[in-house]
Amino acid sequence: MSPLRPATRAAAVPPSATAALDAHAKALVAAGVAVINLTSGEPAFPTVEPAARAAAEAIAEDFTRYTPAAGIPALRSAVAAHLNRHGTAYEAENVVVTAGAKQALHYAFTALLEPGDEVLVPAPYWVSYPHLIALAGGTLVPVNPAPEAGLKVTPEQVRAAVTERTKVLLLNSPANPSGVVYSRFELAALAEAAAEHDLVVVSDEICDHWVFGDARFASVASLGPELAARTVTIGGVSKTFAMTGWRIGWLAAPAELASAVTALQSHTASAPSSVSQRAAVGALTADLGAELERRRSELDARRLATIKALDEIPGLRVDGDPEGAFFLLADVSGLYGTMHGGRTIGSAADFAELLLAEANVAVVPGADFAAPDHVRISYTVPPEQLEEALERLADFVSDLS
Ligand code: PLP
Repeated sequence: MSPLRPATRAAAVPPSATAALDAHAKALVAAGVAVINLTSGEPAFPTVEPAARAAAEAIAEDFTRYTPAAGIPALRSAVAAHLNRHGTAYEAENVVVTAGAKQALHYAFTALLEPGDEVLVPAPYWVSYPHLIALAGGTLVPVNPAPEAGLKVTPEQVRAAVTERTKVLLLNSPANPSGVVYSRFELAALAEAAAEHDLVVVSDEICDHWVFGDARFASVASLGPELAARTVTIGGVSKTFAMTGWRIGWLAAPAELASAVTALQSHTASAPSSVSQRAAVGALTADLGAELERRRSELDARRLATIKALDEIPGLRVDGDPEGAFFLLADVSGLYGTMHGGRTIGSAADFAELLLAEANVAVVPGADFAAPDHVRISYTVPPEQLEEALERLADFVSDLS
C-alpha cells in the first residue's frame, strides 16, 4: 500500500459536495451546455469598489509582507465596529482575522473541542460543519426540527440533546441551506438553553446582511454580557460585500479564546493575505449603505420570484420561511415515484440529477445538508437566468409521469 495513503483523519473527509456540483455545472457551461447554475454559495454581484481600490493601493505601496497573526490593527478595529452595529461590545482585541469564515470555524473548533466533545447543530446544516467539527476531534449531534416546524429548532429540543459530552451549540442564522432567520427572541431562548448547560455558543453570522421582508438579523453576542462571554461570533466579508475569493473572515470572542486562536493561526496560516486585509478595510470603512441596500432589494426580488414560481409547481414545497441568506430548500418528496425518460425519481439526488440532465438546471440535493428530501436552490443568479431556470423547472416537473 502506498505510503501516501491519507491518514484516517484526512481519508474521512470527502470533497465538498456543493463545490463538486458547482464545478460540474461550471464545466458543462464551459463545454457549451446551456446550464443554469442554481448551486452557487455566493451572491452574483461584483466585489464592492472601495475594496478593489484599497487592494490596488496596498499593492502599489508594496504592502505585501507578513502581517500580525491576528490581522492588521486597522482591520481588527474595523471588524469590531462593523459587528457592534448589531449591538455587541467587541474591541479590536476580541477579533482575529482569518482566511474566510470557514477557517475561523476551523480554528474555533480546534481551540474549543477535546476529543469526543459533542457539538449540537440544528439541522438542516451547512455541509462543512460535520467535517470541521470532526477534524477538531469532535462529533456533530444534529438537533432535528419537528415536522412542520418551519425548519427551526426549539430550546426544548436543544436541552433534550445535551449529554455530559456536549460542549458547543452551533447556531447559524440566516441559515445555509434553508434561508430561515431566527428572531432575536428565538435566538435568546436557544442561547439561554445553552447557558443552562454551560455550553459555548458558536454563532455563524456570515449572512448577517442578507435578511429580507419583516425578518431582522440578531447577533447572539448582543443578547447580554453573560451570553457574550460564552459566544464565539463568526463572520466575514465574503457574502455581504461579494468578496468570496478574497478570503477574509473573522472570529470575535472573549480575549482568552481570541489569543488561543491567534496562536493557532500564527503556526498555520501565519495570517491572511495582507492585500486582502487592506481590501477588507476598504469595504468595512466605506459608506456602502446605499449600494448594499440596492443589492439587498435586488436579491429580495429574486427570492420572492423564486418562492412564487415554486409555489405554483405541484409536488414541490418550499420548506420553512426563507427570509435570509440566498438559498431555500424545496421538498421534492411529493414527486417520488414519478418518472422521466424511463427513470423513476426515488430521492432528491435523483431529482437533481435528472433536472440537470434533462433541463440543464443545477440544484444541490440536500442529503449532505441533513435534508434528504430537499434540494437547495440558490437564487443569486441574474433575473433573466433565474426566470428561465424556474420555467425549465416547471416544465420538467410537468413532464413527469
Ligand atoms: N458559513 C456558512 C453558513 C457558509 O455558507 C459559508 C460559505 O458558504 C461559510 C461559513 C464560509 O464563508 P467564507 O467564504 O467566509 O469562508
